[in-house]
Amino acid sequence: METQALPLALPQHGHHHLASLAAEVHRTYFFDMPPLHVRWGHQIHRKSRQSIRLGSYNHVTTEIRIHPSLNAAHIPAFFIQSIIHHEYLHHKLGPSHNRRFHAHERKFRYFREAQEWIRRNLFVLLGRRTRRRERVREAPPQLALF
Ligand SMILES: [Zn+2]
Repeated sequence: METQALPLALPQHGHHHLASLAAEVHRTYFFDMPPLHVRWGHQIHRKSRQSIRLGSYNHVTTEIRIHPSLNAAHIPAFFIQSIIHHEYLHHKLGPSHNRRFHAHERKFRYFREAQEWIRRNLFVLLGRRTRRRERVREAPPQLALF
């Protein structure tokens, strides 16, 4: 009997299943409101960037978009969920990052871990291979806050 060739690997469409991550955030923190539609944004290929907007909330469509570069194996699920949580808070509390907003933000279970992770990995998201010393003296890269 002949062995059958395995089908060629399908093209990688990303690592994270966004709907599952979003559903968990919704049922854990926002179960008192209808779930929002959460989707990946469109990929714009750039080698290196000065800033990156990791997530956004559109108050007209009530849709949350997550930056597609986060759909990768080296990005922890809790970090993506921290952004989904943040955008849900904009839906619930409005556009301002005020004290009330920050108080709610800290309720996310992995808030500290997410902050620590981005502090260490922002340069990766910005498309830089290494932290360059010169950059430290320049204006720090902007995390265009979600
Ligand atoms: Zn925000």
